Amino acid sequence: MIKKILIANRGEIAVRIVRACREMGIKSVAIYTDADRNALHVKKADEAYNIGSDPVLGYLNAHNIVNLAVASGCDALHPGYGFLSENPVLAEVCARRGVKFIGPSPQVIRRMGDKIQARQAMIKAGIPVVPGSDHNLQNVDEARTLAGQIGYPVMLKATNGGGGRGIRRCDSEADLLKNYERVVSEATKAFGAPEIFIEKCVVNPKHIEVQILADSLGNTVHLFERDCSIQRRNQKLIEIAPSPQLTESQREYIGKLAVRAAKAVGYANAGTVEFLLDKDNQFYFMEMNTRLQVEHCVTENITGIDIVVEQIRVADGLPLQYKQEDIKHRGYAMEFRINAEDPKNAFLPSFGRITRYYAPGGPGVRVDAAMYSGYTIPPYYDSMCAKLIVWNLTWEGAVERGKRALDDMIVYGVKTTIPYYKEILSDPEFRSGRFNTGFVEAHPELVNYAVRRPPEHTAAIISAALAAHLGM
Ligand code: ADP
Ligand code: ADP
Ligand code: MG
Repeated sequence: MIKKILIANRGEIAVRIVRACREMGIKSVAIYTDADRNALHVKKADEAYNIGSDPVLGYLNAHNIVNLAVASGCDALHPGYGFLSENPVLAEVCARRGVKFIGPSPQVIRRMGDKIQARQAMIKAGIPVVPGSDHNLQNVDEARTLAGQIGYPVMLKATNGGGGRGIRRCDSEADLLKNYERVVSEATKAFGAPEIFIEKCVVNPKHIEVQILADSLGNTVHLFERDCSIQRRNQKLIEIAPSPQLTESQREYIGKLAVRAAKAVGYANAGTVEFLLDKDNQFYFMEMNTRLQVEHCVTENITGIDIVVEQIRVADGLPLQYKQEDIKHRGYAMEFRINAEDPKNAFLPSFGRITRYYAPGGPGVRVDAAMYSGYTIPPYYDSMCAKLIVWNLTWEGAVERGKRALDDMIVYGVKTTIPYYKEILSDPEFRSGRFNTGFVEAHPELVNYAVRRPPEHTAAIISAALAAHLGM
């Protein structure tokens, strides 16, 4: 049995994993860089070790991290998301050192992390994929020829990409010529690999993804879908489960398709199969994420299944606790990625000290956060500082609860996406439950909310005015 887990991550997801460990009677070990000395995951874990002064490299050194896991007596390692979570080397080093990796096999991570190989595996399994190239592009001339065959608009995408980066839409040959080198350079910088490929651009699709759970004994189930169509620049902002835009028969179809995809590659542990749904109601496989996803919480809310607990059990060789027919969904859940960004200023990161933080509560509200009052958000990492998740029996109820909880939540000291989400929730199109990945771009007016000043700010303005009035 797994007794002690090293968490190779930081922030809210590290805290989330500590919580699962606590409930399972498993000890947790956190790692942190100098910049993260005061981070919440360090305080929450049973033990914490400094892994160096470089704010980022510490979390990316697989050998160091696994050494530490062994030295601190851990029998398992959870990679979280981002960082090394989809790097097969971490899973390999774990296997060599006898540490159970809480995720799929290195072979599956490697294969699905390469979007070309993933597409090929899916084509072989009879899963519909977005029309596109079956190998990495050799040069811009080949891109031009293929784009001519596929038809514009097309997407240039980094083969090893993730997190919404290294993707550019090209509406014409001129666009393609302009973007080709850019995407190659983005891919090289962000993912350390220059390979890119071309895909048909599905215009204004819905992003529908299916949560998968599989054990090492050959059992594979799905936990229904999430609708992540509310995105900005290919990055998710709000995620919903189940999708308010699918019929029950579409739901059944996509669930089965995702299970087939997972089985086709011998998948074990938790994973996500992402699809695009076009205006003709055709689903296309887009990619598979071989890890726990940021938005796993909405699936937990509608199914009642703790995905992290299942991940740990499966990595321990235990069978899944649920059969497909046991898994039901109830109500709607919605997650808001609370980012320390200024929506009014092109969503520029807004790092700094949280002068005041109050977490919302009440019925159907969950907050997975990495901050507290007085915490300073370091500038080196992702700007997401919390996730607010709400649940209610109906779609309309979930929207109202989301508004209420966003109203309840207080984060002073940095700008956040909270006021922007309130505007989205008041938008008739969003409320109708019909939207696609073009929603954010089509509604630039939603950043025109009035800025509410924190009380200390208002107090300062009043006393300054008073002082001026009194001639002080
Ligand atoms: P999800 O797919 O779980 O919705 P995101 O795509 O937003 O999550 O990615 C979660 C985090 O992981 C982000 O911080 C993102 O920058 C990072 N990330 C995802 N894929 C990669 C990758 N291939 N390389 C580096 N970072 C990645
Ligand atoms: P990442 O690995 O960065 O998550 P994805 O391949 O999942 O990259 O794409 C991220 C987002 O980009 C999708 O959710 C979708 O909004 C958009 N996108 C990607 N490929 C296409 C496509 N072929 N047509 C239209 N939109 C796409
Ligand atoms: Mg994706």
